[in-house]
Amino acid sequence: MSPTPSARSRLRRALLAWYDAHARDLPWRRTRDPYAIWIAEVMLQQTRVETVIPYWERFLAQWPDAEALAGAPLDDVLAAWSGLGYYRRARLLHQGARHVAEAHGGALPADTGALRAIPGVGAYTTGAIASQAFDLPAALVDGNVARVLARVFAIEDDPKKGKGLARAWRLAEELVDRERPGAWNNALMELGATVCVPREPRCGQCPIRAACAAKREGRTHELPVVSEKPVRPRVREIAAVLRVRGGDESARVLVRRAPHGLFAGLWEPPRVSARDRHAARAELEATLGVKVRFDEAPARQVEHVLTHRHLEIAVHQGVVDRPPTAIASNAAWDAVEVVRPRDLDRRGVSTLARKLLAARRRG
Ligand code: SF4
Repeated sequence: MSPTPSARSRLRRALLAWYDAHARDLPWRRTRDPYAIWIAEVMLQQTRVETVIPYWERFLAQWPDAEALAGAPLDDVLAAWSGLGYYRRARLLHQGARHVAEAHGGALPADTGALRAIPGVGAYTTGAIASQAFDLPAALVDGNVARVLARVFAIEDDPKKGKGLARAWRLAEELVDRERPGAWNNALMELGATVCVPREPRCGQCPIRAACAAKREGRTHELPVVSEKPVRPRVREIAAVLRVRGGDESARVLVRRAPHGLFAGLWEPPRVSARDRHAARAELEATLGVKVRFDEAPARQVEHVLTHRHLEIAVHQGVVDRPPTAIASNAAWDAVEVVRPRDLDRRGVSTLARKLLAARRRG
């Protein structure tokens, strides 16, 4: 059931008053610059606030507007993203900036349809930019908002997908405050992040507890409904941490993943799906065009959990007879280089790649 107009007004008044008194002072809340808000929202999608703050500040100092970001090499953008994870976000941000530079002269448009047409900008980010930068009455639903709405309105389906998500969006659209849409959206997210938290919601401190169905019915631990998570398949791989015989002992052979798919554009030690070290060596020699010799030391195991799979990687160390300079034939990689540790920060290197390199160093 939809809230009545008077119930909506009571909810808005209570939540906005609480937000005005309790909002955390976050740097992106002090700006109305749509570009700065966009960068913050993308970074915050999978990453904690405390981690994001220094990245956001550095990113804006390096590329203060969409035009500057559009002109940056992707390698530099991925390097600036190093450590934030989910690098697809950085690639899409870069594409999005190019679109904004070409289609809008570098200024983000004050229009929800035009915002939504920017590569990588989905319904959530559209709502965030439109409401916070332009005061447009656009709703948004993220994980925090979905949880709050599921509890307050007793949504009986998983609010992260399908029917439950559609219901959360409908409610968010009905509720968004016409006068202060940005503050309203932030208030809902803030409540979910600090009070209506997943495990033990602090209902005693909640400004909208009088309107909350889950609280009234004693169901705060049942809601939101959570669907069973699909089991992640385990995938075995072999990674090679290789130095060049007679070369800099600290430098390692890194390959760059091709521009599509998982880890696109990131540098890492080569890894293959071969059945054993002999097959892995043959595959690496064919692809890198050099002789590979693995050390006798046993492989180290590295585990890495991704959204849809669980990687189990045997890390072998070894040497190549000369620096590889080209990828012979491998659709997964498009460049190879021998990289010193101090040069790692100048390129996009995933957390997984750092784990593989560290596994080698401990060996
Ligand atoms: S009363 Fe409790 S469950 Fe309901 S919105 Fe507030 S914190 Fe969440």
